[in-house]
Amino acid sequence: MTFSQITYVEPVFRPPGEASSAILQTTIGCSWNRCTFCEMYTSKKFKARNIDDLKPEIELLSKIYKGVRKVFLADGNAFVLSAKNLIPVLTEINRQFGKIQRISSYALPKDILNKSDSELQKLRSLGLKLLYLGIETGDDELLKLINKGETYNSTIDGILKAQEAGIDTSIMIINGLGGKKYSTQHAVNSAKIINRINPKYLSTLTLSFPYGLEHFQKRFNGKYSPLTITEHFKELKTFITHTELNSVIYRSDHISNNLVLKGILSKDKKKLIDVINMAIDIAPKDVYPSTPSIL
Ligand code: SF4
Repeated sequence: MTFSQITYVEPVFRPPGEASSAILQTTIGCSWNRCTFCEMYTSKKFKARNIDDLKPEIELLSKIYKGVRKVFLADGNAFVLSAKNLIPVLTEINRQFGKIQRISSYALPKDILNKSDSELQKLRSLGLKLLYLGIETGDDELLKLINKGETYNSTIDGILKAQEAGIDTSIMIINGLGGKKYSTQHAVNSAKIINRINPKYLSTLTLSFPYGLEHFQKRFNGKYSPLTITEHFKELKTFITHTELNSVIYRSDHISNNLVLKGILSKDKKKLIDVINMAIDIAPKDVYPSTPSIL
């Protein structure tokens, strides 16, 4: 994608909530790049970009996006950069954009745990107010099978550490991630981890197979049997049923989802479960979701 004089290294992804943000490609690819279900950055070799290269780009972005008050740091986990490397980037964004409302990025729990409390507070004071974490599941067995490189405990430790520094989190769980065999434990343990974290935002996506089911089955470290549409809804119902949350903004409106849900958890829990029950009743039986054309 070329936007004026800015050339992005494709493909570039950003969360739906960053649709109107300026995108600064601070890193290229994902430093982990080993999750078995993820093809987002497999075509890229991870690279951190230099502040000297970023400075003119930040200046240009501030002119192209005049009046925009949100900046998203791409790619996969720009938050892997050390505080020492992130601080000049955030400082320059503040300098060029003026009154910045929010800077955000994707992160892994280990990227947070690698920073001290005072470093996180410093980053927060420079406008880094939101981190997006695809934790995918709260089930340790499944976390191993998808090669996430994190555990139930490391995920909680990282996220709570960010939240204690005043950084909000937006958490993603993948519906259908463990297939039939792990469906119930995935749903129950994902609710359990979300209950511990109580993030500001929560979203559920649906597992998709951009390179086909067979390709995914080869990469999954176990036996994977996909869920039908109805089974996805039932897993989602188990997940929502087990959540006990306080004012969490919940969305299930990703392109991969067969059912759009929006609400505040747990205030809207019953309403959401009623909608899922209705979807279970009317969904065609024994039909598998089609894979959207996304990576
Ligand atoms: S899911 Fe996230 S951490 Fe895992 S490979 Fe993809 S971008 Fe990297």
